[in-house]
Amino acid sequence: MFLRNYPLANLTSLGVGGPADFFIQPSSLEEVVRAQRFALDRGLPLTVIGYGTNLLIRDGGIRGVVVQIAAPFARATVEGSLLTATTGCLLSSLSKLALRHGLSGLEFAVGIPGGLGGAAYMNAGAYGGEIGPLVRSAQLVQDGTVKTWQRGELSFAYRSSRFQTEPTLPIVTEIELELVPGERREILQKMNDLQAQRRSKQPLEYPSAGSTFKRPPGHYVGPLIEQAGLKGLRIGGAEVSTKHAGFIVKRGEATARDFLDLIATIQKVIWEQYGVRLEPEIRILGED
Ligand SMILES: Cc1cc2nc3c(=O)[nH]c(=O)nc-3n(C[C@H](O)[C@H](O)[C@H](O)COP(=O)(O)OP(=O)(O)OC[C@H]3O[C@@H](n4cnc5c(N)ncnc54)[C@H](O)[C@@H]3O)c2cc1C
Repeated sequence: MFLRNYPLANLTSLGVGGPADFFIQPSSLEEVVRAQRFALDRGLPLTVIGYGTNLLIRDGGIRGVVVQIAAPFARATVEGSLLTATTGCLLSSLSKLALRHGLSGLEFAVGIPGGLGGAAYMNAGAYGGEIGPLVRSAQLVQDGTVKTWQRGELSFAYRSSRFQTEPTLPIVTEIELELVPGERREILQKMNDLQAQRRSKQPLEYPSAGSTFKRPPGHYVGPLIEQAGLKGLRIGGAEVSTKHAGFIVKRGEATARDFLDLIATIQKVIWEQYGVRLEPEIRILGED
């Protein structure tokens, strides 16, 4: 799929933001390579997105080429305890696939709404689990060439990975995950427990992009924002969730500007009151 001036808001969980100049949704490795070369050959900036569940796209949209790695590029196989998947696979689907094969390790991922590419880029994690330690190798397309990086080359750390620090954009295309055999009943029980915890604590009834900020050393973001009296604070259609202050949710009509202003306000107050710098976990892309 190749489109011009394509609206991106509906491709994100927040539902705000402007269009992409060019939008490409590949369904094979060859198409990913071609998409990257299309941008390189024309000197256009290149951006990759997945399911948009960790994104805030600014109101002016994204210049150049946006490549979305999502459902058309989703295939997964299991051999022994090795799960190999293209990065358009949803984490929740992979977690359930592992369960069907009696494999443990991906239980934490059952309630994370995004895809494997975004999860690898972000080193997504929850409830003590993280994608990074499971990754045996990653296939990617960089500078129009297919490469494979092994576990030791991926530099996973808290919500960060080598993919975030490369000088030219890597599009992650396939991941090998090393899981361990487990009891199906226990795996399912753990998945159900984690889902119940998520439902009870997170504002899943409103659009969000997950946790707004990374956890600063020695602090928890939600309680910090709550103690500062910011729970429920609203700018336009962006609101600090009244259920969990670590989330900003969309209430009615909103623009990306509303979210940016609310994020800046929270950062300012938390810095002034506690001397703590909050760094966004959500990725902010595009221009005003
Ligand atoms: C309600 C809710 C709960 C959430 N809970 C959690 C949680 O518990 N833990 C957690 O870690 N996250 C959580 N998230 C955030 C998000 O779901 C994860 O970070 C997810 O893995 C992002 O995947 P995505 O496909 O949506 O990526 P996107 O949001 O589309 O992209 C995220 C980043 O990854 C990059 N990227 C995406 N695909 C690729 C690719 N193929 N190659 C290279 N770079 C790529 C993008 O450029 C962007 O910088 C939550 C979000 C929501 C809305």
